Amino acid sequence: MKPLPSKSPVGKIGEDTYSTYVGCTKFKQLPMSKKTIDGLVKGKYKEMTDIQRASLPHSLCGRDILGAAKTGSGKTLAFVLPILEKLYKLRWGPEDGVGSIIITPTRELAGQIFEVLTEVGKHHGFSAGLLIGGRKDVGAEKERVNELNILVCTPGRLLQHMNETPNFDCSQLEVLVLDEADRILDDGFKAEMNNIISQLPKQRQTLLFSATQTKSVKDLARLSLKDPEYINVHEED
Ligand code: ADP
Ligand code: MG
Repeated sequence: MKPLPSKSPVGKIGEDTYSTYVGCTKFKQLPMSKKTIDGLVKGKYKEMTDIQRASLPHSLCGRDILGAAKTGSGKTLAFVLPILEKLYKLRWGPEDGVGSIIITPTRELAGQIFEVLTEVGKHHGFSAGLLIGGRKDVGAEKERVNELNILVCTPGRLLQHMNETPNFDCSQLEVLVLDEADRILDDGFKAEMNNIISQLPKQRQTLLFSATQTKSVKDLARLSLKDPEYINVHEED
């Protein structure tokens, strides 16, 4: 594993170092912690998929991403790994609260993401929660939600906590992920997403992934992306 260049101050990820890692093909060539690499080994992940190879050098260096790649191409790890690494480098702890929020359109997708997150992140000490509504007791969730570091949510349930849970605090948010971004920025979720985004700090890393490239400039403006890296693999599809 290549160490991070020494000019990167402890607790900060240098944003100018991604070029060092462009062209890497294996996870272990990337500047990631042993805890994360061990989680990947346990999950038998070795070679990166195209979207992971194209995005991780940038996202691990703290850059915003607008990534498109077809279903089944490995987008989950492309956002789970930068979350784990950023919170790890910042020495995120239980008292720091919500450091990352992943928003995805359906409960089923949220469940799948949560599984990957807890599998690959098992050697880290972060707490993660699945906030997806349905029959799960929102009352019990409200007691715990402020202790969680990484939230995997559907838009409706996240907004419910933002509006109803006393002291729900995302003011320290470091990484926002919109999975299936084209779907959650679509009209069906528009009001909920606008409301959510208006309650999140603008100073953060934002990672957008979907099967098709998000084209609406308005969407990008309301997300306050900062010089995002546009990635479109499988363009021929
Ligand atoms: P997407 O979100 O793009 O539809 P997923 O993240 O759900 O794709 O991944 C699809 C499948 O590919 C999953 O079964 C996952 O375990 C597998 N996968 C992801 N990345 C890799 C990898 N680097 N090596 C091997 N399998 C992978
Ligand atoms: Mg996916």
